Amino acid sequence: MPRDVPARPRIAIVGANFAGLSAAQRLGSDHAVTVIDGSPWFEWRPGIHELVSGTSRAADLRLSRARLVSRAGHRFVRATVTDIDARAGRLTTSDDRQVEFDACIVAVGGVVNTFGVEGADRHAMPLKTVEDGVAIGRKLATLASGKGRKSVVIVGSGLEGIEVLGEILRRYRGRQSLHISVIEAGSRLMPGSPRALDQAVRAHCAGLDVDLLVRTAAAKVTRSRVQLAAGGSLRSDLTIWTAGATAPDLIRAAGLSGGKQPWAPVRKTLQSRNFDNVFVAGDANVLRPRLAKQAYYAMQTGQFAAINAMRAVAGRRLREFIPVPKPMLVAFGDLDTFLVSGRSVIASPTLAAAKEAVFQLTMAQVDPPIGAVQLRALTGRVARAVRR
Ligand SMILES: Cc1cc2nc3c(=O)[nH]c(=O)nc-3n(C[C@H](O)[C@H](O)[C@H](O)COP(=O)(O)OP(=O)(O)OC[C@H]3O[C@@H](n4cnc5c(N)ncnc54)[C@H](O)[C@@H]3O)c2cc1C
Repeated sequence: MPRDVPARPRIAIVGANFAGLSAAQRLGSDHAVTVIDGSPWFEWRPGIHELVSGTSRAADLRLSRARLVSRAGHRFVRATVTDIDARAGRLTTSDDRQVEFDACIVAVGGVVNTFGVEGADRHAMPLKTVEDGVAIGRKLATLASGKGRKSVVIVGSGLEGIEVLGEILRRYRGRQSLHISVIEAGSRLMPGSPRALDQAVRAHCAGLDVDLLVRTAAAKVTRSRVQLAAGGSLRSDLTIWTAGATAPDLIRAAGLSGGKQPWAPVRKTLQSRNFDNVFVAGDANVLRPRLAKQAYYAMQTGQFAAINAMRAVAGRRLREFIPVPKPMLVAFGDLDTFLVSGRSVIASPTLAAAKEAVFQLTMAQVDPPIGAVQLRALTGRVARAVRR
């Protein structure tokens, strides 16, 4: 007579980029793991600004999710999750599949926040995914090859806004084809970062066809203009929206958000404050004190959520997450790279090599080069980096 095989605890992971994939790779085959994401590619989002200048290609920044998940020994479902019923331990996907779970790790990241600015959804181009970076790169190339000087407006001067400005300058400065305006609602560029960053970017832009406008907010975006909250408007043949992110609708729909807070509040165990069987990792969560929404924290919280999900399904006491802060590297095209650590900034174009090293090492960690496919991908990335 066959002996009863104990059922493996079921863990569902929603979203498989930095946080979700790190969680999946931490879980072993003693758990029945289902990983769900609407897109087929793991994407290196910290590098998408380089698509704008053509310095990187889409293929350099993407890895097949199905391959990475199956290599970790798990099941990959390509679908968007539309509902998570934590009480019932069941989620539903856009293609009406249902996945039952004992624990769920939600790692859905963020989506573009247009703050309700009229026309921004329709007329501005976001920079959040590889596809967005490619689309902006194409549009810029078309504008720059046309007749006359064209205007580009970048809304928001956070990390993404400054990195995309640097890439546009890398490719188009000196060609007299583009005028660029950056508008920032705060009182300086990269609000929340050391003042020296604002000064360094301004110094690089002096004498170039760039206007850096702070205390300036967009009120409406049309096909050819950005209207300003204080009155007046800027001509814009291309508006790039990098003004912020918010939580995907799923967070609120699943009851994971906290009051007015769109993101999902979590305990130090990364468990949702609302449901014990749901853990939230990466950009989608909000911890106290808050963590910067950065890929390295997404990977740390993803791995930790997996550890605690395993402990939870085994009925063991959960551990408390302790973040390991890292310095932030901000690229400014080929003009400069800034290393920001707390209130200190070091600037040097040679730091671009450090940013490249972080990319190469993390991609090799996500996709360890064991086997022909992975080795080919790694050598391709390194060869292109050397050429750059
Ligand atoms: C231009 C740019 C530059 C950046 N530069 C840096 C940098 O230099 N350093 C750094 O550390 N960080 C940087 N970041 C931030 C970094 O990319 C994010 O912190 C990181 O991607 C967060 O990882 P995540 O896994 O939480 O979410 P994401 O990477 O956003 O992934 C979320 C995943 O969830 C999936 N998903 C969403 N909703 C659903 C659903 N309903 N069903 C199924 N799947 C779903 C999505 O398809 C996606 O794959 C940058 C970001 C941008 C946009």
